[in-house]
Amino acid sequence: MRILVSNDDGYFSPGIAALAQAMQAFGEVTVVAPEADRSGASNSLTLDRPLYVRRSSQGFYYVNGTPTDCVHVAVTGFLDHRPDLVVSGINNSANLAEDTLYSGTVAAAMEGYLLGLPAIAFSLASRSFEHLETAVAVAQQVVRRLIDQPFAKARLLNVNIPAVPMDELQGYALTRLGRRHVAQPVETAVSPRGETVYWVGPPGGQREAGPGTDFHALNQSRVSVTPLQVDLGDSDGFQEVGPWLEKM
Ligand code: MN
Repeated sequence: MRILVSNDDGYFSPGIAALAQAMQAFGEVTVVAPEADRSGASNSLTLDRPLYVRRSSQGFYYVNGTPTDCVHVAVTGFLDHRPDLVVSGINNSANLAEDTLYSGTVAAAMEGYLLGLPAIAFSLASRSFEHLETAVAVAQQVVRRLIDQPFAKARLLNVNIPAVPMDELQGYALTRLGRRHVAQPVETAVSPRGETVYWVGPPGGQREAGPGTDFHALNQSRVSVTPLQVDLGDSDGFQEVGPWLEKM
């Protein structure tokens, strides 16, 4: 079993060190991660400059690019083998609902999935890695389960872990994405050079958080497991756009 580990917080994050160590139990682990914190990078590829892959003192490889770059470069050129699994994280906060569109943690896993590999994103609902040991145990349980019983085809799972002690965890929940309220407005400030600058504000709060959603699972101290797909196509839109287009 050969496992590629990446993240969006950067190769120096305690979350990726913990995940890489946890994956050692299952085989050969290679870490290829961004050299800087690229949280919020989504599925971006770097096309305007070359990328390097360098090796850190702890044996992790780091790239001057995005999470997507890391997995793309690793799988399509850097590695001398095709990994059996791509895991991403452990992110230092949850990736729920619309977060999945912006998340670099999810994007790293998604890139593996787009390249035909099973992939799992792991996120812990704590900015300060509170109860990281719970997330590590969950990551091991999920990967163990996938090895024992692989899916019929490669799948992409988004796993969010509540920041609680292991003995307070209320099991696993299969979930769909909830929905957030619209994002908070940007914060503005004036730079030392007198220019107005903008800082992106926090995401909106929980709007659709009923039973069955990822929000609900975490609110109940359960591990949320959401199968994700990549198709952004709007099949409902066909009904309205079809007749609209006929008048062109
Ligand atoms: Mn992050």
